[in-house]
Amino acid sequence: MTRCPVCNARWAAAAPPERCACGYELASRDPRLAVVLATEELSAANRRWRRGLLALLLVPVTFAFLVVSVEALAGVVTATQMLLGLLASGVGIAQGHVARNRLRAAQQLMQLPPARVL
Ligand SMILES: [Zn+2]
Repeated sequence: MTRCPVCNARWAAAAPPERCACGYELASRDPRLAVVLATEELSAANRRWRRGLLALLLVPVTFAFLVVSVEALAGVVTATQMLLGLLASGVGIAQGHVARNRLRAAQQLMQLPPARVL
């Protein structure tokens, strides 16, 4: 078994791919693409949980507006907004955690001296 040093994905030792799904180049041991991809994923995850938090913070505003205008749907719409906000926040925080770990691993690999060619 071979493991990706960035994302811990496993392959059969006989046939590792040239590039991992996380962007790490196994053949050349180059983590630069992995750093770029992890950085992009981290900022996407940050946007996601911030949007979820914003949706949660706006729940009272939505409820107040709907109670005044269309009373019947106010509870359902507000509950849906709350659920979607919670979901987006939770998913964003979890994805951010994974992306941060991968970014840290890839950046540590960048700091290692290049392998000597024999
Ligand atoms: Zn990987």
